[in-house]
Amino acid sequence: MARDFYSILGVPKSASADDIKKAFRKAAQKHHPDVSKAPDAAAKFKELNDAYQVLSDTEQRARYDRFGEAGVGGGAGGPGAGGRGGFPGGAGGGFAGGFPGGGDFGSVEDLFEGFFGGAARGARRTGPPPGDDLRFDMKVSFAESIRGGTREVNLDMRVACETCSGSGAAKGSGTKSCDGCGGRGEVRTVRQTLLGQMAVSAPCAKCAGEGKIIEKQCAACRGEGRFNGSKRLRVDIPPGVDDGTQIRLSGQGEAGRRGGPAGSLYVVVTVEEHPQLVRDGIDLLTEIPLSISQAALGARVLIPTAEGEEEMEIKPGTQPGAEIRLKGRGAPNVRRPSQRGDLRIVVAVEVPKKLSKEQREALERFAKASGEERN
Ligand SMILES: [Zn+2]
Ligand SMILES: [Zn+2]
Repeated sequence: MARDFYSILGVPKSASADDIKKAFRKAAQKHHPDVSKAPDAAAKFKELNDAYQVLSDTEQRARYDRFGEAGVGGGAGGPGAGGRGGFPGGAGGGFAGGFPGGGDFGSVEDLFEGFFGGAARGARRTGPPPGDDLRFDMKVSFAESIRGGTREVNLDMRVACETCSGSGAAKGSGTKSCDGCGGRGEVRTVRQTLLGQMAVSAPCAKCAGEGKIIEKQCAACRGEGRFNGSKRLRVDIPPGVDDGTQIRLSGQGEAGRRGGPAGSLYVVVTVEEHPQLVRDGIDLLTEIPLSISQAALGARVLIPTAEGEEEMEIKPGTQPGAEIRLKGRGAPNVRRPSQRGDLRIVVAVEVPKKLSKEQREALERFAKASGEERN
């Protein structure tokens, strides 16, 4: 069933963009489900919206004029099903996508959040605001990153006032309802919008959206409930942390204003480089240099591990580039410490650049014994 969007808006086919906008505003005000008591108000309003979405868009309107509703991907689903962007004038795509199909429109604000980028939603929060999250960069040695550990740190931050236990109120004094907003925490203002006047809520400036103000301020913190201080903290370094690992300590960030919840502390780990070991996921990698004779004859050599140097047996006939894997000698999985990676040792065979007379003679004998012809 093809719909005539022009007659839905009550404008002629030759209507200008301005005429269409005006006609939509007028009709929408009349048929808005919060205003109209007609049983089909919701359906009617949706239809108006469908028509306006197409006709207010030059490109869509041209397609509609040529191909009808099928040309704008509408069909029974109406605009929005065709993947069009946000409602004209809206900050985001929330309107077209989130438009309820049925008759339940919720409040006027719910419907209009799409227009104003959801500003109304954020304004409804009440209660003291939470404290800020903090970031703390912590350098740990390579060995510490593998075995884990603890650190005591002193951090400058806003801490809760002890005098008033963070409430910001002087002893014996309490809070009273804010007279700026009648305790609601928000004030309503009327705003001119596309559809005429709309009530918009904003947090009350007097009480910062809390709905309450203090009768008599605590002298120690001047009513803030917190002040600049420092906090001593124990930070657990879990075994296996890698460079860049973030440890979140919930509630250890800055104290909130007037007893608001504290923020989080994010400890960002920097791991010092090891001279010989590098991480590859939970594996550790190293390279050991062997002389020609060590590789051929086998040897006992020192290898670096996360726990220090260790002796290891090299088998005779070890090839350059060979990888020796020591199971379970890598880094622990930071989320599952029972799991540990491997230590992978890559063999590098070094060919001497200079030979002493004795070495040369020995190698020549070796060549001869190997049946190599030499000039
Ligand atoms: Zn105080
Ligand atoms: Zn207020």
